[in-house]
Amino acid sequence: MHIQRIRLTNFRNFADTEVDFAPRRNLIVGPNAQGKTNLLEAIHVLGVGRSHRDRKDQNLVRFGQAYYRLEGTVQHIGVKTTIEATYADDRKRIRINSKEARPSALLGLAPVVVSSPEDIDMIKRSPGYRRTFLDLALAQVSREYLVALSGYSRALAQRNMLLKRLQDGVASRSEAEVWDDAVVDLGAKLVSARIAFLAEIQPATTANTEAMSGAALPVALVYEPRGYQLAEDTAVAGGSPGEVIPGLVRQGLQRALEENRRLEVARGFTLFGPHVDDFRFLCGGRDIRVFGSEGEQRTAVLALRCAEVALIKDRLGQYPIVLLDDVFAELDQARSSALAALISGFDQIVLTSSRPAALGDEAMRRITVKAGSVTYDG
Ligand code: ATP
Ligand code: MG
Repeated sequence: MHIQRIRLTNFRNFADTEVDFAPRRNLIVGPNAQGKTNLLEAIHVLGVGRSHRDRKDQNLVRFGQAYYRLEGTVQHIGVKTTIEATYADDRKRIRINSKEARPSALLGLAPVVVSSPEDIDMIKRSPGYRRTFLDLALAQVSREYLVALSGYSRALAQRNMLLKRLQDGVASRSEAEVWDDAVVDLGAKLVSARIAFLAEIQPATTANTEAMSGAALPVALVYEPRGYQLAEDTAVAGGSPGEVIPGLVRQGLQRALEENRRLEVARGFTLFGPHVDDFRFLCGGRDIRVFGSEGEQRTAVLALRCAEVALIKDRLGQYPIVLLDDVFAELDQARSSALAALISGFDQIVLTSSRPAALGDEAMRRITVKAGSVTYDG
């Protein structure tokens, strides 16, 4: 999949600008604060329906304007698709080939993977950043996950509302329990898909980390259920992990809900499940969040992103559009060249840099961004 063209209207510092991309390598250059990251952000919005660095669409609207509009053309094996995203009056509308669609319809259509300075949040900050990584990666490769995720959010909201009413004494216990099954079943689906996903990308993440750091550093991506256990008998005989795990997760969640009913009523919301879980990133047996240097942490997230790209290619049969925002800036020479080699097999890459950069020998289209307008050379 690659993006051919995008038109940005009132998006961040772009008033009305069209940008044409090469199908393979694109290098966006320009001094600081010219719109390089904004351009990547626009591609991300068309790919998955939202920004990678800002949850509020209002912030993407050009200062002083009332709406933004993005229109892009993507192409895969000769088939073109146009995607439009418009945000106005507090509402986002998506159109695919001129037909109105839900934002979730975008997922998997033009898959994107972005790696940006914000990625470090995945290592350093709260579990929410790691859950977002899992949910977005999985939603792009699995319709089933996406459906379970939205079902879970709905069930969770209902259950929380009833717990709150139970707390206020205006609902009965049995009313609240109606949502237990949905929360447990869908929750177990999400958790087991996440565990399987982490197991699947772990070997590539290790290989990538070792390639970049030049050392033997096995990575372990360890799912952490918060406040419940995945039943002790994890080593249940027979079957692949994918078959065994959902049952165990269901048991674990079920038990957590049963044993903590009073606590949940007292708090007025659901305390256990995929909406609070986390995962740990161990490198050479140590938690990279605690022990990793800045460069090691950057290396780790890049290794993870490259593994995500490979998994998408595996599952969907096509490479995602890869957006790399200033990723070479903080890597030393050896790590930079190793990264360049790792990404050399990807299809389309859009890379930003505030300094001139090269990606191996491959020809690149240089797109210079200056105060929200673009010129091309090379
Ligand atoms: P750097 O090299 O520093 O990363 P950049 O080229 O990636 O720079 P961007 O993050 O794309 O810079 O931002 C470019 C400019 O867009 C910034 O000066 C920022 O203040 C401006 N900007 C951000 N949001 C909006 C908005 N909603 N409306 C107008 N301008 C905005
Ligand atoms: Mg930037």
